[in-house]
Amino acid sequence: MDVNDMGRDLEKVLVSAKEIDARLSELAKEIDEYYDGEPIVLVGVLRGSVMAMADLARKLHTPLVMDWMATSSYGSGTKSSGVVRILKDLNEDISGRRILIVEDIVDSGLTLSWLVENLQSRGPKEIKIMTMLRKPEAIRKMKVDVDWVAFDVGEEFVIGYGLDYAEEYRGLPFIGTLASHVYGGEE
Ligand code: 5GP
Repeated sequence: MDVNDMGRDLEKVLVSAKEIDARLSELAKEIDEYYDGEPIVLVGVLRGSVMAMADLARKLHTPLVMDWMATSSYGSGTKSSGVVRILKDLNEDISGRRILIVEDIVDSGLTLSWLVENLQSRGPKEIKIMTMLRKPEAIRKMKVDVDWVAFDVGEEFVIGYGLDYAEEYRGLPFIGTLASHVYGGEE
């Protein structure tokens, strides 16, 4: 899926596939330096972080295991409430292990702070967080310390590179915004 498949639905590209690739290479280097060869468990939250996990994992030299959680937020529309239900739990026992959560986007930080608390209760050695995107509210509220951020974006709703609108657009290799007609707005 690429720009040509978007027709009139795309408003603009915010971060190109090339920029994502270059930034993830930089972050992977920093992350490798930090872990210094010690094994980690990458924890991805389905479904938004699938692309980031796949690309980051392929760039890291740190020995790693990939595991996944699926959660459902009780939020309405495009905002999360932070009240989360686990639909699929981790397969791995993470006690005593070093965990790197790979997030798609941190907005209010409610989802992430719930996740950190949940994983913390399982007795890992350490929990670190990498997110592809961070919105201004996450910086203002500082609910959770994010260790590695690929890109800061504005308040606008973004899609692509794993992120959806009504389950569409996850397959796009870039991050962008949607034209208002997609949301039923004016042209
Ligand atoms: P938070 O709990 O930090 O407010 O929200 C995080 C979750 O809300 C993300 O994992 C994502 O599912 C969703 N989300 C927040 N902002 C956006 C956005 O701009 N685009 C998309 N597609 N999802 C978003």
